[in-house]
Amino acid sequence: MRKGYFGKQLTAAVMAATLLILPLAASAQTRIVAPKNKYKVQDDIKLGNDAARQVEQQMPIISDTDAARYIDRVGQRLVASIPPEFQHPEFNYRFQWLNASDLNAFALPGGPMFINRGMIEAAHNEGELAGVMAHELSHVALRHATAQATKASSTSSTLRNLGLILGGAVIGGQAGAQLGAGLAGTFMLKFSREYESQADTLGAQIMAKAGYDPHDLANVFKTIEGESKGSGPEWLSDHPNPGNRYENINREASYLRVSQDPPIKITRDFERVQARFHALPKAKTMAQIEKDAQAGKGTEGSNNTPNPTANGRYSNSVRFPSSRVRAYTGLSWLRVNVPSNWLDFPSQDDVQFSPEGAYGDQGITRGAMIGIYNGRNNNLTNDSEAYVSSMLQGNPYLTQRGDLVQTYVAGRQGLTTILSGRSPVTNRTEVVTIYTTTLRNGGLLYVATVVPQAESASYSAAFRAMLNSMRLND
Ligand SMILES: [Zn+2]
Repeated sequence: MRKGYFGKQLTAAVMAATLLILPLAASAQTRIVAPKNKYKVQDDIKLGNDAARQVEQQMPIISDTDAARYIDRVGQRLVASIPPEFQHPEFNYRFQWLNASDLNAFALPGGPMFINRGMIEAAHNEGELAGVMAHELSHVALRHATAQATKASSTSSTLRNLGLILGGAVIGGQAGAQLGAGLAGTFMLKFSREYESQADTLGAQIMAKAGYDPHDLANVFKTIEGESKGSGPEWLSDHPNPGNRYENINREASYLRVSQDPPIKITRDFERVQARFHALPKAKTMAQIEKDAQAGKGTEGSNNTPNPTANGRYSNSVRFPSSRVRAYTGLSWLRVNVPSNWLDFPSQDDVQFSPEGAYGDQGITRGAMIGIYNGRNNNLTNDSEAYVSSMLQGNPYLTQRGDLVQTYVAGRQGLTTILSGRSPVTNRTEVVTIYTTTLRNGGLLYVATVVPQAESASYSAAFRAMLNSMRLND
């Protein structure tokens, strides 16, 4: 398993089809009804703000004042054209460029939006750029993330622990799958077809009201398709019913009256920012950014720390824990005994222990990790839930097997829970047991033990001895 990656569990959830779009008379625009949502508008805002903070820390944001002002002008023009019934005055729509080459964009609940630089570099005019943004804006205005959670939720689950699609990228599917479990992959998921087509329809309506030609929303998919031939996301071949999507947007466009004649196409601002970006060094793809981050190479504007276990080789024959122990004192706040045949891999706020053959670029298959999670809630249960979610997010093959229950960790009240699932490294069922307790400064201490289920009996004594030996110096 890897270390946790992100504060939320986000999984693709393909939902049952629901008719959300009710066509009226052929001459009128399609009437849109926002899907049922049991969450508060404030929940959208909190989810989006938390996620945006992560994006800003981990993805390369372009800080170019002129380009930033431009994307904000285009964005606010679209925001002003959201139909009144879908306006949420509490939302804070804001727009940032990511230094990534893929033709893509995603928006988070409550308003933060990230547009890849590749988008404007390939767009034929401002209308195509605005089209992608209008589509993403529609997901936010219709509150699709929490609406999807409403459909998925059972009474006992909290919003945090639900499978959520936060990003809802324009291009999802296959491309998203290739991106894996990291932050970029998270936002490349797409919503259900129904939500996508609803965002296409509302996006077209917003464009027309804002003075753009809504056909440019359909056109941009052709632009994306043209750019990505052979390498990148193949939107049209990916999508379950690609032709329909293109045709549906164009049909909707034919019902709409554009508020400006002629509609906004190429603007001087568009050309200037496009030229500025063309002059920059070539951007990486999101997949490359993610891969580099996981390999520890880091990215410009990224806070990712190197992966300390990356140089290991996984093996099928790993020695069981030695009954002899050694004291580990490499972190100032921790003293713990571990089997003498376990190596240690410290980072700034954590340490991983693993025997030879059980660590590598995808984390550890046997051993333990101990660290500090910067929970924001100052509450053991909430911070523990957040930590568990980050582990599930970083390791999508794992599932939580029970609630957090009370235990003692290093002599303090704590919580424990079990995650398990088929490890992509060993191809066997892996059991991860998590223990948490609160540090004196409010931070969360976590211990996660990792072992293939079939070997767990050979590890339980070592895990118990390790936990019993833990002393915290906080
Ligand atoms: Zn979408």
